[in-house]
Amino acid sequence: MKILVIGGGGREHTIVRKIKESPRVEKVYCAPGNGGISRDAECVDISVTDIDGVVRFAAEHQIDLVFVAPDDPLAAGMVDALESAGIRAFGPRANAAVIESSKVFAKDLMKKYHIPTAGYEVFDEPHKALQYIRENNQYPIVIKADGLALGKGVIIAADYAEAHDAVKSIMEDKVFGSSGNRVVVEEFITGPEVSVLAFTDGKSLKPMVSSKDHKRALDGDKGLNTGGMGTISPNPYYSEEMAQLCMKTIFLPTVEAMNKEGRTFKGCLYFGLMLTKDGPKVIEYNSRFGDPETQVVLPRLKTDFVDILEAVVEERLESQTIEWSQDACACVVMASGGYPGKYAKGIEISGLDDFGQVEGATVYHAGTLYRDHRFYTNGGRVLGVTALGGTLDEALKKAYASVEKINFEGAHYRSDIGK
Ligand code: ATP
Repeated sequence: MKILVIGGGGREHTIVRKIKESPRVEKVYCAPGNGGISRDAECVDISVTDIDGVVRFAAEHQIDLVFVAPDDPLAAGMVDALESAGIRAFGPRANAAVIESSKVFAKDLMKKYHIPTAGYEVFDEPHKALQYIRENNQYPIVIKADGLALGKGVIIAADYAEAHDAVKSIMEDKVFGSSGNRVVVEEFITGPEVSVLAFTDGKSLKPMVSSKDHKRALDGDKGLNTGGMGTISPNPYYSEEMAQLCMKTIFLPTVEAMNKEGRTFKGCLYFGLMLTKDGPKVIEYNSRFGDPETQVVLPRLKTDFVDILEAVVEERLESQTIEWSQDACACVVMASGGYPGKYAKGIEISGLDDFGQVEGATVYHAGTLYRDHRFYTNGGRVLGVTALGGTLDEALKKAYASVEKINFEGAHYRSDIGK
């Protein structure tokens, strides 16, 4: 088989490597890929949002399956376009990807089908949002831009002044463009957070092993929000009992709800959950594999990944067995100095071999470039240093020992992943 993966981050590097493990695969392409991915697959210079370019390339190269990993092309209908051209694709169509691309859609869906989530109101005029916040007078309060905002569209306001600034910057200054035409004003809830990715073909749903993300830039969950500074799997807070409860009250009802809305979801559905004292609640849905959750979930997959992808596309997931390793997995992200703010690019990375790897761990590349047998930084999050272990402690020790062997000027990483 020939497979084309769309995307160019650590998630896509993990996906490429997992696909390559399948004996059924003869060639993997990645558009646009990155320095590390170029050592595992043939990188193609097509941007992730160039739908026509992707369809043309897939047709010309007789690609058997296109894996669309990022949210933007899914929301823009890349899977729809590929299917119309007779090319098989893994990922939801645009009318189902809306579960991530519109928070208003997701919240209204949960309300309509009684799926537990934080209480909320939707506003399309700033003064009405502010009036509600004033009258409600409960802080902290959560303000979310409706559309995609690169993971930055959620503001937790400690008081009215912060809420006012958030509403103004999202709805009036339009810092996230048209994603801020509407806002969701949401009740602040508390509890451990859990990420659960699940395969679904719209008929059945099979959850993957759980994980936990660390979003803040600095140790002790301090500093700015980032795309994710590290992950562990399994999530220690997610018991078997909780998994069963989530299946019954959240996962299956979501698949059912999407079917009832005529928006059958096929692909990977991501549940961002908060385990509150009133039970598990949905914080967010993503219409795709998470980054860097994928980096700790897929290494634990024992079944041929390509078999599962095909079972989803062909709507026969129910009869597909999926096996997971009992090992734990940890990923420590090494980022550029200054990230998530301004940072330099093009800094040489030392300690990696010619395949971008280091002994004792698997290094998934996010923002790297490969030139003349050397790797250079090329993004905010640079590397995801990932290790499996019999226990979480062991996995973390291995990952951190490997981090110590890698260096680039300004490199920063959290030292408390999994703690
Ligand atoms: P992502 O980058 O994961 O796509 P996003 O921009 O879609 O992020 P959310 O995941 O919805 O944002 O929210 C980001 C974080 O804000 C959550 O992980 C959670 O910690 C916090 N958060 C969101 N909603 C609430 C809430 N109602 N109460 C408390 N915290 C919340």
